[in-house]
Order: sequence, then structure tokens, then C-alpha cells
Amino acid sequence: MSRLLVVGCGGVAQVAIQKCCQNDEVFKELCIASRTKSKCDALKEKIERAGTSHTKVTTAQVDAGNLQELVALIKSYKPDCVLNLALPYQNLTIMDACLECGVHYVDTACYESEDMNDPAWSKMRKERYSGSILSAYFDYSWQWAYDERFKKANLTALLGSGFDPGVTSVFVTYAKKYYFDTIDELDILDCNGGDHGYPFATNYNPEVNLREVSDLGSYWEDGHWVEVPAMSIKREYDFPCIGKRDMYLIHHEETESLGRNFPEIKRIRFFMTFTQSYLTHLKCLENVGMLGTEPVMYNGVPIVPILFLQTLLPDPATLGPRTIGKTNIGCIFRGKKDGKERTLYIYNVCDHQECYKEVGSQAISYTAGVPAMIGAALIVSGVWNARGAKTTDEFDPDPYMEMLNKFGLPWVVVENPALVD
Ligand code: NDP
Repeated sequence: MSRLLVVGCGGVAQVAIQKCCQNDEVFKELCIASRTKSKCDALKEKIERAGTSHTKVTTAQVDAGNLQELVALIKSYKPDCVLNLALPYQNLTIMDACLECGVHYVDTACYESEDMNDPAWSKMRKERYSGSILSAYFDYSWQWAYDERFKKANLTALLGSGFDPGVTSVFVTYAKKYYFDTIDELDILDCNGGDHGYPFATNYNPEVNLREVSDLGSYWEDGHWVEVPAMSIKREYDFPCIGKRDMYLIHHEETESLGRNFPEIKRIRFFMTFTQSYLTHLKCLENVGMLGTEPVMYNGVPIVPILFLQTLLPDPATLGPRTIGKTNIGCIFRGKKDGKERTLYIYNVCDHQECYKEVGSQAISYTAGVPAMIGAALIVSGVWNARGAKTTDEFDPDPYMEMLNKFGLPWVVVENPALVD
């Protein structure tokens, strides 16, 4: 029925592509295009060797930061949709290419500028900060600015269809549809209870991950942002199927879209678990300047510390065989139904080794890759057909929730959970 162009062939893309091939009634043809074509060819071979899918897979080389290259590829392949699973730095270029070629767009993480010295990005960040809006490295303003252009072109740009952001926002629309008249408070909890056995590694792209977790924390309260020093708000939570873990408040993009689209919610916080060992490594790397994004000279050669660090750290796509344990990601709600107070927890538990057995990846890539496929499937099949640049909380949650159950991310709803203070 449809043709999909996937850009990127890293940890998340490898899961999403295999899931698209499982959903071959929707995805008849798929092109994997990335910077390193050999990775695309290896995945194509793996899928063809398994022989379980009717999806016709092809591969291509592309630099997603180069608009002309992307436009040429899209014009020659003629996909119905581009699924962007490269890095957030390329989001705007890929959206521009989709507009130029008249195809839908889906991604899993909101735009941020790779170059912190980019004058346009610095200006926007400064304006937002001085207006006490938000000083995070990443925010939706860049991609929401495409809304009118996508609407006019009768196209959809589905922003942030991973687990968080993505599924977490769908959990909110589902809770609102079936369980609440009003939601007053929302806590999004992301627990990785897995162990990969390395002293230090990140579960998705190291540069993106380390920039995110070393930034200021922030939460949405009474219509404005409250910013706090990184990792300064800590809570312990007893996660179903995992047990007690320390979690820390960080900024995360769905707090921004949910704050905008659900103005009734008075407080939205996002917590992620980290071990003490991870935080000690992070602090040490930060203290010695290894998280720096500006080039430093070494023997006459400019080196960006965080990119050099990335070359030393394990590739997240290789963590699958050695990661054991589970993830638990979900939302805790406090609100009202029929005049009465109600609390609810919707979450998914995912097992690292089960994911590895199925698609050769750990659960972080799996929990992001499955919803990426679901978002693309709902757009190309026209089930989600609102036009413009939209986040997952702006659509009917039902088909997405059904597909989560069908494609490996079953969820549960629990009344009266323990709340986070
Ligand atoms: P990886 O680093 O494993 O993969 C990124 C891929 O993009 C690589 O194949 C890389 O190519 C390719 N790439 C990078 N730059 C370019 C370029 N200029 N042109 C073409 N291809 C390029 O990252 P992950 O798979 O871990 O993450 C992918 C995305 O998913 C990120 O945006 C991340 O933020 C997001 N994510 C979202 C989550 C969610 O729940 N919403 C959770 C986890 C991740 P090469 O192989 O040559 O390096």
C-alpha cells in the first residue's frame, strides 16, 4: 500500500525498520538511507535472510544535513512518508525536503542545533530565556513554526513518535478520553532497570543523551516553566516489575507540548532513573570538560570533546546482547472524574533480552523504534489525518494504543498508584 523512506540506520532505526517489515500489509516498500550505507545493506540482508516479510527493502546513501541530496533521493524514490531516525540536528532540513517534495514527515525527537554558536539558535534561546519561557537546548518552537506550511501543503509532520516523547503523550490523551474529566497533575516516569555491564555507556546516541541530561532540569507549573539545576530534584520510586530506583527531574520535550495542548494540567514533571555510578561518571566528565561542544585544539587539530568522547563510548546499537533487566516507562495522573478525585498509572514494561531475541536490540531502542513505526503507519494509512506539524497528543489515542499491544509494547492501567511527592 505504501512506500516509506527511513533516514538513519542506528539503534532506533534498526528496530523501527524491522517492525515496519513485520507490518508488511501497510509498508509494501521501504528504503533505508543513511550516512553509512554499509549499515543499511547489512540490515537489508538480515531482513531478507529471515525471509518473514513481504516488504521490498532497498538502500541508499544520504547526508541528511544536505537539502539537495535529500530532495534528489525523495524525488527518485517517491515515498509517501519520510521517517526521520537520524539525529535531531537534521530535523529541519528533512522537514524542508518533505515540503519541497510533498510527502509526510515523522520523527522521534525535537530539533536542537548541533552548533551551539549558530546565531539563529542562540538568538532564539536567549529570547526564550529572557522571556522566562525555557532555556533548554531543545524546544518545539522550531518545528511548530512549520505548522502552517505543512497545513497548506495538505501534509502531516508527526513530531516525537518514540516512547518518550510519543507514547507518553498518547497515554495522556487516552487517560483524558476514558478516565478523567480534568487532569490536574502529571508525572512522567522513565525507568531503565537494565544493566549492560559497562562502567559507563548511554542507551541512545551518546552526544544527544549527554547534552540532554547535563542541561538544566525544568517542569511546567501553573502555566510557566520552573528551571532547576541539573539533577537537583531526586525522588525514589518503587517501579512495578523492577523495584526501587532513584529518579531525577529533567527537562523533556513532551512537557512542552502537553503544557500547550492540555492547559488544564497544573503541573507536569518528567523523571528519569540514573544510578549513582552513572551520575558520578557524568559529573567527572563534565568537570574535566569532556561534555564540551566547542572545538579545542589538540596538537594543532580541532577536536570537539563530546564527539571525541562519543568515539570512545560503546555504540548503543551494540548493547543488545549484553543488556539484561527491564524498562518501565509511564505516566501517573491525578485529577477528577464525576466530581471525585482519581489517580491512575499507565505504563509499559519491556524486557531487554526479549527485545534482543526478537530484533537484536536493547529495550531503549525497541521502546522508541516500535512507536516510530506505529506513527508512520497511522500517517501513511490515513488513520491519523490532521494536517500541520503535530505531536502525538493531538490525535485519537485508540489506534495507537491498539498497535502498541499488537507490536510488542503492551501497557497496563492501574488505579490508585503510589504518587510521587
Ligand atoms: P544512533 O546514533 O544509533 O543512530 C543515528 C543514525 O543516524 C546513524 O545511523 C547515523 O549514521 C545516522 N546519521 C547521523 N547523521 C546523519 C546525517 N547527516 N545523514 C544521514 N544519516 C545520519 O542514534 P539512535 O538510533 O540512538 O537515535 C536516533 C534518534 O532517536 C535520535 O534523534 C534520538 O534522540 C531519538 N530517540 C528517541 C527516543 C524516544 O523515545 N522518543 C528514545 C531514543 C532515541 P552513521 O551510522 O553513519 O553514524
